[in-house]
Amino acid sequence: MAHYPDIQLHIDGAWRTTQDSLPILNPASAQEIGLLPVASRADLDDALAAAARGFRIWSQTAPAKRAEIMLRAARLMRDRNEEIAQAITLEHGKPLTEARMEVIRGCEFFEWDAGEAVRTYGRVIPSAPGIKYIVLHRPIGMVAAFSPWNFPMSQPSRKVAGALAAGCSIILKAAEETPAGAVHIARAFHDAGLPAGVLNLVFGVPADISSHLIPQSQTRLVAFTGSTAVGKQLTELAARHMKPVLMELGGHAPVVVCDDVDPVQAAITSATRKMRNAGQVCTSPTRFYVHESIYKPFAQAFAETAAALHVGDGFDPSTQMGPLANRRRPDALEALSEDARAKGARMLTGGHRMTGDGYFFAPTVIAEAPDDARAMREEPFGPFAIINPVASLDEAIEKANALPFGLAAYGFTHSARNADRLAEELEAGNVSINTLEASVAETPFGGVKDSGYGREGGAEGLSHYTIVKTISHLVG
Ligand code: NAD
Repeated sequence: MAHYPDIQLHIDGAWRTTQDSLPILNPASAQEIGLLPVASRADLDDALAAAARGFRIWSQTAPAKRAEIMLRAARLMRDRNEEIAQAITLEHGKPLTEARMEVIRGCEFFEWDAGEAVRTYGRVIPSAPGIKYIVLHRPIGMVAAFSPWNFPMSQPSRKVAGALAAGCSIILKAAEETPAGAVHIARAFHDAGLPAGVLNLVFGVPADISSHLIPQSQTRLVAFTGSTAVGKQLTELAARHMKPVLMELGGHAPVVVCDDVDPVQAAITSATRKMRNAGQVCTSPTRFYVHESIYKPFAQAFAETAAALHVGDGFDPSTQMGPLANRRRPDALEALSEDARAKGARMLTGGHRMTGDGYFFAPTVIAEAPDDARAMREEPFGPFAIINPVASLDEAIEKANALPFGLAAYGFTHSARNADRLAEELEAGNVSINTLEASVAETPFGGVKDSGYGREGGAEGLSHYTIVKTISHLVG
């Protein structure tokens, strides 16, 4: 039996339990695996006071020292990869191999931002004799961060890495359904020697926590990853209190498949990638616009690949796709499937729950979905792909850009002209050609339109966690 950690809050460098708790379920069996502590108002106030003290210490800590502690914590997480991965598979359901990769990816975020910590250069502005103008990038202050359940370890890593590298303290409210990844992060930083109060971890009722933390005077940035609907609510609240936000929200990524590629190869690559993390990825390729000349073999190979995937418990080594992470997802996907069928889409495979106690849903591929099908507009956030034929690149680009989302977009082509058009014209923060990878630690990641704003990672990532401070110094 895999080990699941004792889930506690981490406030002011100490672990604490709470009076109230909620069950944590294994989505492969719907069985309880642990208890989630629910933070009270007093716990949150303690976290705020601790984070204010933590900010005073950490913002005055040399960047090289900050980087050293971050790298030590990342090393500990790499050493604990198996333990963390097992906890993630237990609480989230994803195959153990994917959980192991997620831990490495989370460590890469820390390692990249640790490198950036020592490179937050300011500049000296040329000036008249006797006066100096200096631009500094200073840590913004305490960050209130909210991370979702789809990547229990790498999602919180993004926010903790950015905050700590910049010299900020943070209160992280990680996902209630998948708390273990964040607990392991807090544990690794505790063991790596992070001063008390710099990283505080809470769980509870999400709206109660955000509505209490965001208005506080010491909260200087609101960083959220999750749905567009909640992102807009938190942005409104933040605006009322004049707090900047970093919002990484939903997507509904289009994939344009041009007529110059091998349709079978592109379909196999696409179907495999689509079902990674059971499709619960904000950059998941979802709307495939395939040139009509290669549409049939593409759709067939895609559906066959999806249907052949072995769906099961993430601990079974033969499993290629696990259950969905919570009870809401199969309900949502069932509704989208029924609606698509009713509106005349062709169901190539799936579209139904699978037997068993867990939240299993069959890999689903629909074709020729009309624009008024709900799945064409609502992010399925699950193992659900839509394949539609198009007559031209113009039509594909127009349809790809038709939704209010703009996080990731993809294209398959060997034509330099097509590739250039896709790169220029697809409305998304991240456009990938001939690869379905949209984000790595060294590249900036984030959305346009309803997919949010701000960037995480890359050389841009720390800019949200810092403020620009101009010093004018009249010398003598
Ligand atoms: P949801 O919008 O209720 O919750 C998403 C996340 O936001 C959860 O982690 C939740 O704890 C948090 N949250 C919700 N209300 C909050 C509040 N008032 N204050 C602070 N945090 C709050 O939706 P859900 O049912 O958990 O997930 C469904 C949708 O969320 C998906 O369809 C997908 O669009 C989106 N989602 C996106 C990502 C992403 O990586 N962008 C990740 C997870 C979910």
